[in-house]
Amino acid sequence: MACLFCRIAAGEIPAQKLYEDELSLAFADIHPQAPTHFLVIPKQHIDSLSQATAADKGLLGHLTQVATELAAKQNLAKGFRVVINTGPDGGQTVDHLHLHVLGGRAMHWPPG
Ligand code: 5GP
Ligand code: ZN
Repeated sequence: MACLFCRIAAGEIPAQKLYEDELSLAFADIHPQAPTHFLVIPKQHIDSLSQATAADKGLLGHLTQVATELAAKQNLAKGFRVVINTGPDGGQTVDHLHLHVLGGRAMHWPPG
């Protein structure tokens, strides 16, 4: 299995796990860009948001819900940012769909 995040989901590569259920896994980003920075991934491999289909609507909603609940647990009541980098121009470097959740500081806009 070559995909990095599939290997993390399978427990083959260690990660600082924050949450796990049958559909999803959340873990700390290895290069945090904010005081709180974690990733929420589907256990099922999907290359990117642009590869998700109508059949994945429920899964995408679930990932968003997990992100929101974990943000609350991580004391991000002042706000947070959810980012899904998609494709080369979107800045995606790992080709397994993932939501970034960033918080603990004020975010800038526009992003770089
Ligand atoms: P992307 O650039 O694809 O949107 O985000 C990929 C993210 O995965 C980056 O923020 C990067 O720091 C993180 N990342 C890459 N390799 C690993 C790893 O082995 N473990 C963890 N926990 N995060 C990783
Ligand atoms: Zn994968």
